[in-house]
Amino acid sequence: MQYVSTRGQAAPQSFSQILLGGLAPDGGLYLPAEYPQVTGAELDAWRTLSYADLAFEVLKKFATDIPQADLKALTHKTYTADVYCNTRSGEDAARITPLCVLEEKDGTRLILQALSNGPTLAFKDMAMQLLGNLFEYTLAKQDAELNILGATSGDTGSAAEYAMRGKKGIRVFMLSPHGKMSAFQTAQMFSLQDPNIFNIAVEGVFDDCQDIVKAVSNDLEFKTRQKIGTVNSINWARIVAQVVYYIRGYLSATTGNDQKVSFTVPSGNFGNICAGHIVRMMGVPIDKLVAATNENDVLDEFFRTGIYRVRKASETYHTTSPSMDISKASNFERFIFDLLDRDGDRVRALFKKVETQGGFDLSGKPGSDGDEFRKVAQYGFLSGKSIHQDRVQTIRDVQAKHGVTIDTHTADGVKMAREFLTPGIPMIVLETALPAKFNETIQEALGRDAERPAGFENIEALPQRFEVMPAAVEKIKAYIARHTGL
Ligand SMILES: *Cc1c(COP(=O)(O)O)cnc(C)c1O
Repeated sequence: MQYVSTRGQAAPQSFSQILLGGLAPDGGLYLPAEYPQVTGAELDAWRTLSYADLAFEVLKKFATDIPQADLKALTHKTYTADVYCNTRSGEDAARITPLCVLEEKDGTRLILQALSNGPTLAFKDMAMQLLGNLFEYTLAKQDAELNILGATSGDTGSAAEYAMRGKKGIRVFMLSPHGKMSAFQTAQMFSLQDPNIFNIAVEGVFDDCQDIVKAVSNDLEFKTRQKIGTVNSINWARIVAQVVYYIRGYLSATTGNDQKVSFTVPSGNFGNICAGHIVRMMGVPIDKLVAATNENDVLDEFFRTGIYRVRKASETYHTTSPSMDISKASNFERFIFDLLDRDGDRVRALFKKVETQGGFDLSGKPGSDGDEFRKVAQYGFLSGKSIHQDRVQTIRDVQAKHGVTIDTHTADGVKMAREFLTPGIPMIVLETALPAKFNETIQEALGRDAERPAGFENIEALPQRFEVMPAAVEKIKAYIARHTGL
């Protein structure tokens, strides 16, 4: 299988060739030249597989240049009950992403899919743990080293650091917006003492961090000399790893391949829901994909109007679902590529326009950049936004009715999912974090602390290790060079 760039000007590459990199040389994102298809017979055969075996079956369709025996060993090393052990009481860790039916009315089920039982209590562990093992495997084969540069609004950073800590040949330089993560998230990242982990607290918002990563990645000379790689959500292997749990969710919620399900996905960078789009393109019977946003509603605006209008850092709100405080969705270009029938020239022009004019317009109105908004419904997308009061209300309501505590991001999802229920079609809300990560809002909603999985009791009291730096590309580059010695 070959991978092509959304901007149409980069040479096709294999899975292993794009594994360690970020953007394509032309500034685009990689996608498979063609989406592999999943047949109904395959789906039925996959129903009884363990998570690790399902991951192997899915990955071998995408990572065609890794020997299958190696791939199988990697998925079995990654998806174990030991790694995904931070379960709620009653959940079976061996199932990795168990479903919990919240409500059932007239045959319509509202379901939570637990994706947050890994080491950092957020769904990003699902992909990042696999990435850590894939990177280690590939680097060892090439006798190479890698310096990972990432930007995080909280969850990516800790997931990456816990996946890469202590791994040979790998250093992690993680940028986060200074003072904007929750106390728990901050403690998770900054308390790591592994010498290959470097936490940089940037004086700015998440988008400043993301812009710095992009600027560094666009400096090809520096990037090559410093052996820079990324683990941001644009990394293709992360998307593939996420494809697996959508298929697992589908299989767990259905009994035959003639049935459909819908997913609601708390969204920021469009990475999680991008995997849902790909699963749908692979032929898995997904009805709707609902993008749930918070007050930072750039995606909701697009799916309602066809206008993609990125926000400035000063217009990005700091909310109580902070991992979705994103105003420029880095994976969105992948969907636009498909929406525009894979016309790389047009995608390149549109995303140049994002840089120069802050957005583009596919509404089809006079003066717009195209009329493809009319086709969005064919891809199953719906959207909605919620605000702080909705989250508080939803957390209270789900606790009262179902005895389940959900986190603020998942609450954004549950709120939207309820608005888009379709009779007879199960609606799966992806649970993107456990509530302990966002305890401040749980206290506000429920008047008590969120339950903490064992081992996390005193995490805020641990000594922290981090460097505060201004949002200045050159300063960050100098810091990296100083610590790699390259
Ligand atoms: C990262 C994250 C999101 C947003 O996911 P995207 O892939 O950026 O759309 C939502 N909720 C939580 C808890 C997250 O960590």
